Amino acid sequence: MKNTIKNTLFAVVALALTACMTTNEVTGRSQFIIIPPSQDAALGLEAMQEVKKTSPVVTTGPLAERVQRIGKRIAAISDKPDLAWEFVVIDEPVLNAWALPGGKVAVYRKMVDAFPNDDDLAAVMGHEISHAVLRHGAEQMSRAQMQSLILVGAGVAVGAATEDEKTTQLAVGLAGLAAAGFVQLPHSRKMELEADHIGTVYMAKAGYDPRAAVRLWQKMKTMKDGNQPPTFLSTHPSDDNRIARLEGRMSEYLSYYQVR
Ligand SMILES: [Zn+2]
Repeated sequence: MKNTIKNTLFAVVALALTACMTTNEVTGRSQFIIIPPSQDAALGLEAMQEVKKTSPVVTTGPLAERVQRIGKRIAAISDKPDLAWEFVVIDEPVLNAWALPGGKVAVYRKMVDAFPNDDDLAAVMGHEISHAVLRHGAEQMSRAQMQSLILVGAGVAVGAATEDEKTTQLAVGLAGLAAAGFVQLPHSRKMELEADHIGTVYMAKAGYDPRAAVRLWQKMKTMKDGNQPPTFLSTHPSDDNRIARLEGRMSEYLSYYQVR
């Protein structure tokens, strides 16, 4: 029995590692993703339904309409205009925003209020829309699942856990596609820089001033959630290097902006 589980786990890991490298058509970067693109929509929808059960999600009224207007305009010129895009506001005093696989994007009320200028809010939304287009949620979840599979595999190999515990751990690892996982897992630095770059291209192409992207990160550094740094910064590492990279490519972004 022990060997069967071990062999199965190793087979799954080996298959996943070889079968799941895909080249992102927007960035050209090779990504490890075990979730097929065809499942993104269902996963995003399921996770968003979960969020709607547990959080005060607002889909109508002036705040939601503003987020939807900006979001739709950017999504329409993105590389994936046909995703099942949905833009909502979560009525909580939190400085955060996130994107789920398949194009479900949420911005918290405090974040919407903090950026009354549409260009600034468009920088937030361009960034989140890019995470969805570039499949960063699916990539992050794939990495987390593979890590848990390897951990369970290691446990099996050394006989560290009872069969029941191992089965439970495996089930937990494979069932890790909960809304909380997508929302709370921080993206890697590489993903953040990609979302900054592609998001700024998108916002400029949609007619929003790309210089607002620099302003956004500068302003975010000075803001607080109560006494804490903004939640957005706990999942979105911000530093001067990131701002410098945006400034370094600003002439490219402005060329997209001025074409309109
Ligand atoms: Zn991000």
